[in-house]
Amino acid sequence: MVLDSKIPKGPLSEKWTNHKNSINLVNPANKRNIDVIVVGTGLAGGSAAATLAELGYNVKAFCFQDSPRRAHSIAAQGGINAAKNYQGDGDSTYRLFYDTVKGGDYRSREANVYRLAEVSANIIDQCVAQGVPFAREYGGLLDNRSFGGVLVSRTFYAAGQTGQQLLLGAYSAMNRQIGRGKIKMYNRHEMLDVVVVDGKARGIIARDLVSGKIERHSAHAVVLGTGGYGNVFFLSTNAMGSNVTAAWKAHKRGAFFANPCYTQIHPTCIPVSGDHQSKLTLMSESLRNDGRIWVPKHKKDAEAIRAGKLKPT
Ligand SMILES: Cc1cc2nc3c(=O)[nH]c(=O)nc-3n(C[C@H](O)[C@H](O)[C@H](O)COP(=O)(O)OP(=O)(O)OC[C@H]3O[C@@H](n4cnc5c(N)ncnc54)[C@H](O)[C@@H]3O)c2cc1C
Repeated sequence: MVLDSKIPKGPLSEKWTNHKNSINLVNPANKRNIDVIVVGTGLAGGSAAATLAELGYNVKAFCFQDSPRRAHSIAAQGGINAAKNYQGDGDSTYRLFYDTVKGGDYRSREANVYRLAEVSANIIDQCVAQGVPFAREYGGLLDNRSFGGVLVSRTFYAAGQTGQQLLLGAYSAMNRQIGRGKIKMYNRHEMLDVVVVDGKARGIIARDLVSGKIERHSAHAVVLGTGGYGNVFFLSTNAMGSNVTAAWKAHKRGAFFANPCYTQIHPTCIPVSGDHQSKLTLMSESLRNDGRIWVPKHKKDAEAIRAGKLKPT
């Protein structure tokens, strides 16, 4: 077994830029002859489907919910990081790269993290253009908060519902392409298998969850944006439907399962209240940082603070 992450060669900060500069392009007139299947319509799949369709490819998009708006991305709260340095507090692509590698316990693929840091600024611009209502200062400029213990303020947020607002942005971009006929949307469809021809994914088998009918769909390429596998743990902040079935099917067809230690821990969940609970509810991430208002646990401390006898630290 050869593990090949296919990260391009060259110095770390140039690997993906060089690759993008030398990759084969598809002639604009030929894009309409190429079909792409995108499974999953959360922030990953939804934005991929909208972008591919905007470029001119014919996209078939699948999700098991009744609408792309129900993808679990809707649960994300705290915000999205971008090295725009709007606050002038010394942020840079390198610092976002460094903080992300550190936050990933030094296990992330560094070249990919560098790329993430590099394109982070463009993603904010794209989301704003799509109408995502990020929080703004009173003067109208985009606001940032410091998040996750980093030394700069680079988190763009929309109250405590950033994921929901981002998903509505991606969904609107998808809807525009559905209206143009460039995306054919298959809601309530569950991918059951990947069809592999000569080592390449060329289609999927799906079940129509309303009629139960099993369907075949073919394409030149298949993109899986089917979410994480947090539900392997007893309780998770993922919905029970986020059950990683699509990635598991791809794994059974030969795709390697990389870095299974890669799970984000949510430390601020509301304590479990009983056996009936199937998932954990995240306390608003807004409470963890700039937006928080902590109050003393004991009345006597509140009174002492008011009387100036105790410092509220
Ligand atoms: C409570 C919570 C708070 C979070 N807060 C933040 C935050 O503040 N900042 C941040 O950056 N990240 C945050 N995250 C993480 C972030 O939200 C997720 O990593 C991201 O949204 C995942 O997007 P996705 O598109 O990969 O998956 P999802 O949004 O889960 O979408 C998966 C899609 O795949 C489809 N699908 C899955 N299996 C199949 C199948 N077999 N057949 C057909 N379709 C299938 C689903 O229908 C769905 O459309 C948070 C996550 C949670 C749970």
